[in-house]
Amino acid sequence: MIRRRKTRQIRVGDVKIGGAAPISIQSMVKRDTSDVKATVAEIKRLERAGCEIVRVAIKDRDDALAVRAIKRNIKIPLVCDIHFDHRLALACIVAGADKIRLNPGNIRKREEITAVARAAKRAKIPIRIGVNSGSAGSSKPQALVEAAKSYVKILEALDFRDIIISLKASDVISTVEAYRQMSEFCDYPLHLGVTAAGPHESGIVKSAIGIGSLLLDGIGDTVRVSLTSDPVEEVGAAKRILGSLGLRNFGPDIISCPTCGRCQVDLIEMVKRVESGLKTKKDITIAIMGCEVNGPGEAREADIGIAFGRNSGLLFKKGKVVKKVAAKDAVKSMLKEIRKI
Ligand code: SF4
Repeated sequence: MIRRRKTRQIRVGDVKIGGAAPISIQSMVKRDTSDVKATVAEIKRLERAGCEIVRVAIKDRDDALAVRAIKRNIKIPLVCDIHFDHRLALACIVAGADKIRLNPGNIRKREEITAVARAAKRAKIPIRIGVNSGSAGSSKPQALVEAAKSYVKILEALDFRDIIISLKASDVISTVEAYRQMSEFCDYPLHLGVTAAGPHESGIVKSAIGIGSLLLDGIGDTVRVSLTSDPVEEVGAAKRILGSLGLRNFGPDIISCPTCGRCQVDLIEMVKRVESGLKTKKDITIAIMGCEVNGPGEAREADIGIAFGRNSGLLFKKGKVVKKVAAKDAVKSMLKEIRKI
């Protein structure tokens, strides 16, 4: 059981971040924000995939002007990502942004930060202090933390405490160390992520290690997995990270063996069919095992399990053998038993 660090609670639209709120899943649109139709279509796909907060890049006035129309067509809170020009943040706040992300690496003037903080306070929306190694000039954890701390001080001096912090380096160790240091310094909620994590496979591995290590320490209130890939995959990866640690429930957990020369059925195909045939969102464990070495043990521990032998399998339910099924009928039988739970 992971004991989560106590943080203050911040609201982004109707999603709570921090405190006892579930760790939320974020992603980012990869389309030109001023193309409202394409942006809304991507956000709709993300909503269906389970994304809970979405961010768009605001690179110019046209993007900021698109925010109002985007907001009208989506359900989840919208975060506007601002770099270089604080006036774009002001325009997005007027247009109805639910949160503003500022980068301390490129919006540095105190009067500009003040203007954004005052407007955010009037609109009752939070600001994410989003430090990145690329714009902080260093990926040293200390440099990331110092950049965030000096921004926190400016905002607190303005009596602005609706703050979320991220400290993303592209290497896992610096990222983890930066978040650990920051979590000792303040109780603002932390948005976890490893920036520029890379293409699909390496991105998922880096994110799972970085985000997962922090979550195991009880650190982190919202997560974004960054992949050079379809953003829907970012949401899937984030769900798996949170689900594997028991921090959120996104439906059944499948335990299946990697198979080896002992396995005498097409287990890989069966696992795929069970996974795609699952309709339930219940928090249950399903074990699908290739032979009698570990099979019966794992199957007995699961809510539903099957351990195969030669062309047939023993189907377990809550630790008891329910029946022996032919391999060709195994998927159908399992799905039927799962529906009964
Ligand atoms: Fe191989 Fe059996 Fe272990 Fe699966 S459970 S990996 S088939 S020994």
